[in-house]
Amino acid sequence: MDCDEFRSRGKEMIEYICNYLGSIESRRVTPSIEPGYLRKLIPEEAPADPEDWDRIMSDVESKIMPGVTHWQHPRFHAYFPSGNSFPSILGDMLSDAIGCIGFSWAASPACTELETIVLDWLGKAIGLPNQFLAFKEGSKGGGVIQTSASECVLVSMLAARAQALKRLKQQHPFVEEGLLLSKLMAYCSKEAHSCVEKAAMICFVKLRILEPDEKSSLRGKTLLMAMEEDETMGLIPFFVSTTLGTTSCCSFDNLPEIGVVCQKFSCVWLHVDGAYAGNAFICPELKHLLDGIEYADSFNTNPNKWLLTNFDCSTMWVRDRIRLTSALVVDPLYLQHGYSDATIDYRHWGVPLSRRFRSLKLWFVLRCFGISGLQKYIRLHIALAKRFEAHVLGDKRFEICNEVKLGLVCFRLKGPDKLNEKLLSNINASGKLHMVPANVNEKYVIRFCVVSHNATEDDIDHAWKVICEFAEDLLEIQAA
Ligand code: PLP
Repeated sequence: MDCDEFRSRGKEMIEYICNYLGSIESRRVTPSIEPGYLRKLIPEEAPADPEDWDRIMSDVESKIMPGVTHWQHPRFHAYFPSGNSFPSILGDMLSDAIGCIGFSWAASPACTELETIVLDWLGKAIGLPNQFLAFKEGSKGGGVIQTSASECVLVSMLAARAQALKRLKQQHPFVEEGLLLSKLMAYCSKEAHSCVEKAAMICFVKLRILEPDEKSSLRGKTLLMAMEEDETMGLIPFFVSTTLGTTSCCSFDNLPEIGVVCQKFSCVWLHVDGAYAGNAFICPELKHLLDGIEYADSFNTNPNKWLLTNFDCSTMWVRDRIRLTSALVVDPLYLQHGYSDATIDYRHWGVPLSRRFRSLKLWFVLRCFGISGLQKYIRLHIALAKRFEAHVLGDKRFEICNEVKLGLVCFRLKGPDKLNEKLLSNINASGKLHMVPANVNEKYVIRFCVVSHNATEDDIDHAWKVICEFAEDLLEIQAA
């Protein structure tokens, strides 16, 4: 493909994307296919010779699209939103075209510098304390874009582990490092995302999973008891991961209480995972949900969830960048450059060396929507979630199972879990809506998340109508 062909095929692709997103409602939200469907449609070998572009595109429609779950569909209410907007798509296109690999400042200065600047923009907009910003007088902190929230948690835990081991080695210079490692204990709530457990597996550290209160919030008292108990058994608390906006039910750990507890222990790293909810703090009226952040060592949120930015874009801030990078620095000659002392080299801030120019799309989004446009979008989703909650509350057959603070509503039919499992599986099988379940307070609940960028009141009312129809059918069969 030469430049002229790219120009014309590029226009066609934009046309295809506009048609896809513009008429997405005409498709089933989830595919109706069996596992392995694609194996039968695609040759076993890659083509020996170049193929015609039109043939490739026709296979997209006939072979790929039938197996796609349409996350941007107005009937998609599963998981959390997958950020998407035209400015973001265009920003990513440009990033692909520039195609730089910005592992160090010298490897592409604009790639590094824009990331630092845009992370300061967003950090300020969501109300992070000045210590987390790179360009504040006296600050040692700063932000970085990682691939995912899981990676943010892992990187924080790696940094915490390195800090703890360094301190322990100074205190016990003759004790073998493996033994010191075996004493380290991390903590999170039962409601924390499973990525915390995975990070602990990778880091070879113990993880104590704690019971939250009846509002699915981890409390300081519970953490304190666990940490004190572990200390008396010779274990060493070193890392606490808290969540603002849990995956199951969007609950909030009690950060002010937990922060105070962490301060009682020397060298405990406090991480705050706001993968979904963190984006909402861009609205002044929601900033109180971030109370206690002043105790944190690191914080992450995913604009690629709820800030109209395409995957991947998981933003993470640390209070002390040296404490982060000292866990991750490896410095071969071929990666060094003359400005290392005066610049940020993001290869020391995470696991991979290579990194895309991801700040470009976030910069496009922040500039095209402005903070006011993003606030409007978040507020719309919350208002729509409240509308859905009102529908549920108005129907005695159902109950609400979470405190609806943002865009997620957990609900269920009053009655046994099996009834709700059946309700959800019938709805999902129909392809009329897509939702996923969760376990909240030992009950099977259905999660309804407002997801679509341009969601409307009609979409919410329609979803409720579909749910009621399936519930009626099910309850009738039960009664018969
Ligand atoms: N943390 C929370 C609170 C989440 O809700 C999720 C995913 O939904 C994750 C972490 C994992 O996110 P990622 O897929 O970016 O690793």
